[in-house]
Amino acid sequence: MSSPITSPDERSKPRIAVLGSINMDLVIRCDHLPKPGETVAARSMAEVPGGKGANQAVAAARCGGAVQMIGRVGDDGFGQKLLNNLLDASIDCSAVLTAQGCESGLAIVSVENSGENAIIVIPGANARLSAEDIHRAESSLAGCDVLMVQLETPQATVLAGIQAAKRAGAKVILDPAPAASLRDELFDVDLICPNESEAIAIVGGRLETIDDAAAIAKRLHAKGPAAVAITLGARGTMLYDGATAELIPSIKVDAVDTTAAGDAFAGAVAVRWAQTGSLRQAIRWANLAGALAASRAGAQPSLPTHQQIDSLSS
Ligand code: ADP
Repeated sequence: MSSPITSPDERSKPRIAVLGSINMDLVIRCDHLPKPGETVAARSMAEVPGGKGANQAVAAARCGGAVQMIGRVGDDGFGQKLLNNLLDASIDCSAVLTAQGCESGLAIVSVENSGENAIIVIPGANARLSAEDIHRAESSLAGCDVLMVQLETPQATVLAGIQAAKRAGAKVILDPAPAASLRDELFDVDLICPNESEAIAIVGGRLETIDDAAAIAKRLHAKGPAAVAITLGARGTMLYDGATAELIPSIKVDAVDTTAAGDAFAGAVAVRWAQTGSLRQAIRWANLAGALAASRAGAQPSLPTHQQIDSLSS
């Protein structure tokens, strides 16, 4: 598959690889969600590119990274649209494979007038991304600064990616979403960045106060990651690096739609960490990215550029 041409500017950018899901979200708006057995008429339907992997790849590209996507799309009509969307964001798709005889990952998102929603996810080609695919894509990881992984592809595949990135000397960031119980080996990463509910799904307990967040971050750290960043929505991020637990506050925004705030955050952390070597500085900047995403509607359309983030920080 075609890749963007590498310019001198591209070569000086931090190199970010993203191993993860590529989905088409079918967003259906209706007056009320159907009850079991009921048929309702939709008011509108829109195809919106999504998937946590693709969202984080677009986030990192807008933040100034040279991004390589590793994933699978199906050989249905959505596959090429999903690829074109990533190529339009200047993402290298040479390691995006097509699963033959398989549909692309889909999310059927029904939203009623009250804002309540119901979502069915069809993993499709994402479930076909295998550890062998990662071994074949290993050359894509050589020379990359950071690998980002999430949990919308099989855990054995994510693990193969983590191990390959370590062999390549890259830092690994795991966003453990959607919430799930994790194989022990998956904790062997440089940074884990769950939101509140994902952190609780892994270590249990309650997370209400900042002290609770610090205690949960320490319990997560004991599982193996070098650092833990629990995103706390409008409150900011709890960072624990094995020595100090610190709340790094976000800024105040009028939240419109928090979809993809966590993806904006993860992409920004990867880029700024690779650029500065300082995780604390990266999280400070990524909080601004998350806040900007929360202040805008949609998933990928809400992801900010590095210029927009910088103009907030100055
Ligand atoms: P997720 O989308 O994964 O649930 P969060 O909602 O915790 O993740 O958001 C990720 C980051 O984005 C937060 O740590 C914070 O820095 C920023 N953020 C999210 N929502 C807001 C908000 N309403 N106001 C300010 N910053 C926000």
